[in-house]
Amino acid sequence: MSEPKILLVGAPGAGKGTQSENVAEAFDVDHVTTGDALRANKDVETPYGTPREYMDAGELVPDEVVNEIVKEALTGIDGFVLDGYPRNLSQAEYLGEITSLDAVIYLDVSEEELLTRLTGRRVCADCGANFHLTYAPPEEDGVCDDCGGSLYQREDDTEDVAKERIRVYRENTEPVIQFYDDRGDLVRIDGERAPEAVWEDLRETIDRER
Ligand code: AMP
Repeated sequence: MSEPKILLVGAPGAGKGTQSENVAEAFDVDHVTTGDALRANKDVETPYGTPREYMDAGELVPDEVVNEIVKEALTGIDGFVLDGYPRNLSQAEYLGEITSLDAVIYLDVSEEELLTRLTGRRVCADCGANFHLTYAPPEEDGVCDDCGGSLYQREDDTEDVAKERIRVYRENTEPVIQFYDDRGDLVRIDGERAPEAVWEDLRETIDRER
């Protein structure tokens, strides 16, 4: 059986990153995520400015930049789980030109829960592990359980920027979800449950769709 090509869609804070890690491990596929790729290159100059200028304001980085990242990441790999892309219809069209998908899975989470998840998120500066002040607090305040590194809040997880990201999502990315739904390709999963329950559902869905 060939490796599955999976697209995970959903709002910022819906759990795409966490669940993509599960998919990558269980199905032995690459995790392709524009958010991480951009964070690792935040201050690289492009013809459109640096990614940071857009990201810290909660806006979308120009299509030309992200399309190139995805094209390069997908070249030469078999299966993948893609997360954080496409975020608008023109990116969705571009993706359709460069690859096919076995399943498009939507993690459905209410707006109130998204804000709670985003603003409470804390990330380890050293190893990148994720914590949450309410849902997954570290044993010691501000210290990573895994490596002892210090925890910080992503600049775009502050309340004002998080709200802007959700607004940008509603305006630009919801039409993408509608696009896949109209084609009959979308599978909806209730993403508002505990990560383990969401994962069980997601794994069964991929096994069925692949
Ligand atoms: P994420 O970690 O997926 O929430 O992405 C963080 C930020 O990176 C977003 O708020 C955008 O500024 C930028 N970004 C990530 N993916 C894309 C994309 N596909 N198109 C445009 N900007 C993106």
